[in-house]
Amino acid sequence: MAKMEHQSSPTPHVLIFPLPVQGHVTPMLHLAELLCLAHLQVTFLNTNHNHQLLTQNTNIEARFSRYLGFTFKTIPDDWPPQNRPRPQASNVNIMKILKAMVEGMAPRAEPLIRELLFGTTETDKVTCFIIDGWLSFAYDLAKEAEVPVIAFRCSSACGNWSYFCIPQLIEAGEVPFKENEEMDRIVCNVLGMESFLRYRDLPSFCRGKDKSSCDDLRQYFMREVQQTKQAQFLILNTFEDLEGPILSQIRSQCSQVYPIGPLHAHLKYRLGKEETPLSNNSSSSLWEVDKSCTSWLDLKPDKSVIYVSFGSTTTFTADQLMELWAGLVQSKKYFLWVVRPNIIASSLDGPIPEDLLEGTKKRGYKVKWAPQDEVLAHRAIGGFLTHSGWNSTLESIIAGVPMLCWPYFSDQQVNSRFVSQVWGIGLDMKDTCDRSIVEKMINEVMDEKKEELCRSMDNISQAAKRSIAEGGSSYSNLNHLIDEIQAMSKKGGLKSSSSHQ
Ligand code: UDP
Repeated sequence: MAKMEHQSSPTPHVLIFPLPVQGHVTPMLHLAELLCLAHLQVTFLNTNHNHQLLTQNTNIEARFSRYLGFTFKTIPDDWPPQNRPRPQASNVNIMKILKAMVEGMAPRAEPLIRELLFGTTETDKVTCFIIDGWLSFAYDLAKEAEVPVIAFRCSSACGNWSYFCIPQLIEAGEVPFKENEEMDRIVCNVLGMESFLRYRDLPSFCRGKDKSSCDDLRQYFMREVQQTKQAQFLILNTFEDLEGPILSQIRSQCSQVYPIGPLHAHLKYRLGKEETPLSNNSSSSLWEVDKSCTSWLDLKPDKSVIYVSFGSTTTFTADQLMELWAGLVQSKKYFLWVVRPNIIASSLDGPIPEDLLEGTKKRGYKVKWAPQDEVLAHRAIGGFLTHSGWNSTLESIIAGVPMLCWPYFSDQQVNSRFVSQVWGIGLDMKDTCDRSIVEKMINEVMDEKKEELCRSMDNISQAAKRSIAEGGSSYSNLNHLIDEIQAMSKKGGLKSSSSHQ
């Protein structure tokens, strides 16, 4: 690991700013800790509300208190959770929700970010700003303060590359497209995916657009791509052996791309390598974790349980929930199911059928929030029914558990296509939610197709572990990135720092 070379040069001070949602806070906290291990000074921005949840539900304060150069700063957040825009159905307009979230946060975050970027003393001064890809107002502030920016995009490389291609998909007339009629046609304008990406695999927000919302989408992504290209570096939570060809496509537009993932496993590896290995409790859950499910798993045979979780944001209609539930029960497999209290948009109609209650009592276990990493690593887990969120996908890869994908929005549609068609480590159930299909596909993942899926998964899982171990690509990329961050601080800002574009 890179160490500070010259005590006389300014300490690199990295400001990290995630989108305030679980799937972004978690990997950015992992990155923050990795930078702390390299003795960089790190300031991490949370919203007040998220910080309270983290403090309540994890050991976050103790975990970071051992790093002298680490500080949490919180953004005033007088935005009660119940008033925040949340997805409410599977055809959710995620772009609208994101826009509302970012616009609501910007005026509250700006004064603090300005204070940090224009820092009064040399020791306080932020020398590099790592910004979540969705927070464009922060890019503008960094530019004004002439602080170098590193873009961090939490999605897969394949998801990000499909975002990059949205402007040209619109220009070529491939987006918008008619849902139902053309969903299985192959998309021509996402380079590197021309042989297998169907319209239904494009990011959810390409669906059902009219002309004016297409213009908004095009503008939005043109700006995104521009900002990412202008950043000094781009960090991705992935690894070369998994997404090499797509990383090459991204590199054709952004010259300095650092795939350093899977970050959760990378952090674990580096913590274990410390002279006195540091404790490895790196939970970043915004929810209270129910650990009782691990005792339930302990009583089950090897690879006999399907773990069912749809991340932090997915919501179901009452009908979808009932189909899924019936499919789980009909599969006759043991299931561990994360049912967040806010997982359905409306209440269930009428009484729950007796056979569902009975089947759940016999073979099921429900929790509001699971220790997912621990669950996936448990010997009793044989499959993962997932929404294909990128963190969940990487966690499944590291644990070597084949997936059944029911993608919900954004990059998840692309991820599930790669899982099933490119990597062969799972099956894709997208655009269906029917009890007999759920039943059939659970049985395929857990029995009929188990061997072939496990074979591919073993290879990819081993490659993931090699990438984060000493000498592996993600390990070396991170060392190189740390060296670059140190070099940036010596050059003292954007004016004098060399551009990599
Ligand atoms: N997660 C968890 N317990 C649960 C469900 C999810 O710890 O019961 C974690 C999961 O391990 C992952 C994150 O929440 O790190 C979800 O991120 P992902 O990118 O998969 O999906 P998102 O929530 O962003 O849709």
